[in-house]
Amino acid sequence: MISPRGLALNEGFVVSHGGRLMDAPLRPEQHEDPRPHYQAIFDALPDAVLVIAEDGVISLANTAAENMFGYTRQELVGQNHRFILAEGFRDGFERLFASLRRGHGTADGAAGHHPFETYGLRRDGTEFQGEVACSLLGSEQGASMTVAVRTTAHRKEADAGLREAMSLLSATLESTADGILVVGSDGQIAGLNDQFVSMWGIPRELLATHDDEAVMGFVLGQLSDPATFLDKVHELYTHPTAESHDVLEFIDGRTFERYSRPQKVDHQVVGRVWSFRDVTPRRKAQEQARQALSDLAAQAAQLKAMAFQDPLTGLANRKLFHDQLTEALHGECSAAVDVLLLDLDDFKEVNDILGHHAGDQMLIEVARRLRSCVGSEDTVARLGGDEFVVLLTGSQDAESVAACIVESLNVPVWIEGAMLRPSLSLGLASMSQDAVVASELLRHADVAMYAAKAAGKNRYMRFEPEMMTALVQRTDMEAGLRLAVDNGELTVNFQPIVSPLLESVTQFEALARWDRDGERIPPSLFIPAAERSGLMSAIGTHMLQESFTQLRPWLAGDPRHSLAVNVSGTQLKERDFADGVLCLAESCGMDARQLVLEVTESVFFDPDEHVIEQLGCLRRAGVRVALDDFGTGYSSLGRLQDLPVDAVKIDRSFVSMIRTGAEKLPILSSMINMAHSLGLTVTAEGVETAAQAAYLTDLRCDSMQGYLFSHPEPETGLELAILRSADAIDALEELRLKR
Ligand code: C2E
Ligand code: CA
Ligand code: CA
Repeated sequence: MISPRGLALNEGFVVSHGGRLMDAPLRPEQHEDPRPHYQAIFDALPDAVLVIAEDGVISLANTAAENMFGYTRQELVGQNHRFILAEGFRDGFERLFASLRRGHGTADGAAGHHPFETYGLRRDGTEFQGEVACSLLGSEQGASMTVAVRTTAHRKEADAGLREAMSLLSATLESTADGILVVGSDGQIAGLNDQFVSMWGIPRELLATHDDEAVMGFVLGQLSDPATFLDKVHELYTHPTAESHDVLEFIDGRTFERYSRPQKVDHQVVGRVWSFRDVTPRRKAQEQARQALSDLAAQAAQLKAMAFQDPLTGLANRKLFHDQLTEALHGECSAAVDVLLLDLDDFKEVNDILGHHAGDQMLIEVARRLRSCVGSEDTVARLGGDEFVVLLTGSQDAESVAACIVESLNVPVWIEGAMLRPSLSLGLASMSQDAVVASELLRHADVAMYAAKAAGKNRYMRFEPEMMTALVQRTDMEAGLRLAVDNGELTVNFQPIVSPLLESVTQFEALARWDRDGERIPPSLFIPAAERSGLMSAIGTHMLQESFTQLRPWLAGDPRHSLAVNVSGTQLKERDFADGVLCLAESCGMDARQLVLEVTESVFFDPDEHVIEQLGCLRRAGVRVALDDFGTGYSSLGRLQDLPVDAVKIDRSFVSMIRTGAEKLPILSSMINMAHSLGLTVTAEGVETAAQAAYLTDLRCDSMQGYLFSHPEPETGLELAILRSADAIDALEELRLKR
């Protein structure tokens, strides 16, 4: 750019009429005449220089002016300057002149001092663009204006380059997928591309307001964490040269990456460039891939678990148990390995009465209780059905674990509105004590479990070598039982049942006895054996016949007297059971109305309608049916009304809850009241103390049976049994009167 002051010749130029420099004031130190020298300089100037008088007439022109316009100096000088200006650019000289006058002498000058662009006209008629700088020239002849003109052709080339670069830049900016925002150091938006606007969804109207705060508010409103976004912005403004890269999460689930770098001009930071990239699809794809991978891992884990886990209870399965057992027997604690094999008692009943869903709930609860009885390093497995096994390694006291299991399992549980008391039979075999080889350990536990069941269930038993003998004996027993009936080894004992109201024995229960080679085998052993081996029917008939015959005299003495005989479910399954019983009674001269058949609840679980039909037939003939062992099964009081029975016998486990006679036992009173409300009579079993008898009498229990009155006796002992019972009744009356 040319500064008019840069010429610094103003003072020295004097314009002659011929357009040449004529005069100049001499300075004292100048010895040589400088004028030819000024002329040479004037003509050597690269810019066209013209001096124009106040009236617009050119008074001086240099060689460059001649060359620029195509006129000689003589043709220029004396002419009004307008003819060398292009059409449309000819006016304005007066304004310029006036402005120069006004600004003359001030520091930065007036508008006229600043170079400006205009169009000149050459002699050949062509126009050109030039930059004009002018200044005021005062002389004795009056004020004139010095005008320096330079074409801008050279600059146009540079401008074109710049424009090209600019268009390239903006094309790039607009074609990029990134949203770009440039913010000046003053915080004002200096530029942005269309992509930025559409990515952030900024309304055009909002942008048009140039309200940067409103734009920022709009941006922040979309972010999940606007505070962090702002923190980053503030941090970067305090560190203007810093660059950054972070990730923005949007409320609508989108994800942007944010890059920021300073905007510099000549190494000077003048603002900051923010670029935003929508990485949502990439993120989603990454997320999907991650999800797929973790799903795969979960599936693999599930498959693995399924191979070793019982799906219902989450316990180890049979396979895992065997692996663990093998490992334990080869491990450091191999000398202290215990196997506790257990089987739920009468689990089938839960499934039959309450359905499989309840059965499943019960198994889950049992699994939970088993786990709580052992340490986390011990294995609890479900082998299938209602069979579980516990593997203890390094345990000091396996028996107390077994005791804990039996006890904790027996706590009542509510399942689908019914209160159940799970019980189990558990067999324990230990590596240390039984010193057996690994393969035998589980078998020994199995034998012990069988013994626990045979011993009356709801208990644990440690394996003893004699149990193996017992196992053999069991098989032997079945063989022996076949001959027992024919050999007269099976006999009947009678146990009196007393009525506190009538103060006398009103009934006898017939109980089977087996004396084998001088040894008495308990019915809890041979009755199940008889059921297993298909001998129950024969034994049952034998019992009926024997008891009918033996009790006939006593029964004949009083029509209120009755005989109770136990009947097993397998007997009721027989086609002609009812007919058989009725025929037998008739042939023995026994009134069917004096006969009571005791059945356990399990006979009603049989879906076979035949069982119910048999009982119906018998009841129609006057035979009464009593529900034995009431309360021990899984049935509820509520079910009682659906059963075709005439009496209930409350199991002795309930009677044994009466200890002092002072306790409150609502379960007993509800049982009795419930039975009475259904028109059933109630017998309490296992009455051993006067306190129990008094308590039950107070609850208006109809009759009682138990050692307090008499043990079961053979026919020969009946008279004595009746006497003892009478004594006990008297003692009971005395006790009640005393209270
Ligand atoms: P059950 O029908 O509940 O018979 C009562 C059992 O309780 C009898 O045991 C009897 O001796 C016992 N008992 C009586 N009073 C008391 C007492 O005060 N305290 C105690 N602790 N026990 C008492 P038993 O004779 O060993 O019979 C056991 C089970 O064998 C019977 O239980 C019954 O289910 C079954 N059973 C016996 N005989 C026959 C039979 O001929 N046919 C069938 N199917 N089962 C029989
Ligand atoms: Ca009975
Ligand atoms: Ca009973």
